[in-house]
Amino acid sequence: MRQEETISAIATAVGGSVGIVRLSGEGALRAADKVFVAFGGKKIADMKSHTVAYGRIIDQEGKTVDEALAVVMRAPHSYTGEDVAELQCHGGAVSLRKTLALTFAAGARPAEGGEFTKRAFLNGRIDLTEAQAVMDVVEAKTEKALFSAAAHLTGGFSALLEEIRLNILDIIAHLEATIDFPEDDIENTDRGNIDEKVVEIINEIDRLLRTAKRGKILREGIKTAIIGKPNVGKSSLLNAFLREERAIVTDIPGTTRDSIEEYIDLDGIPLKLIDTAGIRNTGDVVENAGITRAREHIERAALILAVFDASLPPTEEDEYIISLIKDRSAVIVLNKRDLGRDLAWRELKNRLPHAPTADISLKEGGNITIVEDLIKFHLMKGVVSDGENIAVNERQAHLLEQAREHLEAARETIRNNIGEDFIVIDLRAAWVNIGEITGDVMDEDIIDEIFSKFCIGK
Ligand code: GDP
Repeated sequence: MRQEETISAIATAVGGSVGIVRLSGEGALRAADKVFVAFGGKKIADMKSHTVAYGRIIDQEGKTVDEALAVVMRAPHSYTGEDVAELQCHGGAVSLRKTLALTFAAGARPAEGGEFTKRAFLNGRIDLTEAQAVMDVVEAKTEKALFSAAAHLTGGFSALLEEIRLNILDIIAHLEATIDFPEDDIENTDRGNIDEKVVEIINEIDRLLRTAKRGKILREGIKTAIIGKPNVGKSSLLNAFLREERAIVTDIPGTTRDSIEEYIDLDGIPLKLIDTAGIRNTGDVVENAGITRAREHIERAALILAVFDASLPPTEEDEYIISLIKDRSAVIVLNKRDLGRDLAWRELKNRLPHAPTADISLKEGGNITIVEDLIKFHLMKGVVSDGENIAVNERQAHLLEQAREHLEAARETIRNNIGEDFIVIDLRAAWVNIGEITGDVMDEDIIDEIFSKFCIGK
């Protein structure tokens, strides 16, 4: 097992009741000994793997900074595969940072984002799909997303990929045998068999690719925009969503202006409501927001919730919105039913046949579930079909698509009766693509890129 320079980071979220400073690397135990003194006097470097000592954190002058537990996990039986010491302190931000700083003084260097998990990968403890799953578990916003990520974590996906690779390798081996012994030129029937096998592999890849859309949704949420002219009930709709207790409402300052993104959880499907905060918070923003921002919202959204006041005849603004959502994934809310209905709205169904419509009054309670059910139904069509948990992410989907292209190229070569060695070239390329997903085939830039997205301490 390789041992690297010792790294250290706070491994827990600041503000919890316990905070952990984690050290990993060849000098982890020695460094921990410089900042931790066990009440029993035992040195961390002398502790057995997977044991705990109770003691205190001390600064360079020997002053007590905090009480703590020290947990030792020796290589290779640790998360990173290296020697690991975890100092479990009280969760105070100041004492935690102080403890961290002391580990730096003791010889560790600050860990980069995801560096612990990266080491776990480099030491062969986990493969890339599992490493990425660690991040997805942490970032899961709903239970469905969590279970999907957890399924990757246990390596089920890797096993599937491994099988695909073996099948490709099988064909390559068969072809190479005939290249080596050209006198046994491969028969036409043989070409047919090989083609069949390649098709089977392509089908399997397609099956995995179909989960990509669902995976993206589970991980990132569906970007959803609520649009409509002023006063139709957009805020009422948002408030009705958010009032439900199950809503996961996280305020994440967005990258654009002062926008805020909020997540609501529709039975495990996260909806990421875009930029609605401004509309909700300041009354007069509504006036200029309605139409001018509708277009911008629609462009960024994967799902559009279009709200209309159907008690009054459609206005020019309504018409504009209708024209914008013609070819988009949308759910329509015809609101203010309690005030009656203008007959002109009956036409809408013909004009937007793809968009399910809720004919409701948001003023009356309970109606929000109608909207939610429509959204769920709308989203699940063709997306959340099978009961399987595996869902590939964008990078994985990209590589699967590349592999698929190479396999199609191999089929083309088979059909055109071109030499076996050309078929092998394409098959090998596909084999490499699949290997890149698990990290069997390494590209350092890609690996760095993946781990850089992790937070520090992971
Ligand atoms: P927004 O400007 O599109 O965000 O619309 P609001 O949600 O602020 O609603 C505008 C006004 O319409 C408010 O006074 C709401 O109370 C009212 N409103 C919303 N939904 C209904 C409804 O179903 N029936 C009636 N009568 N009024 C509603």
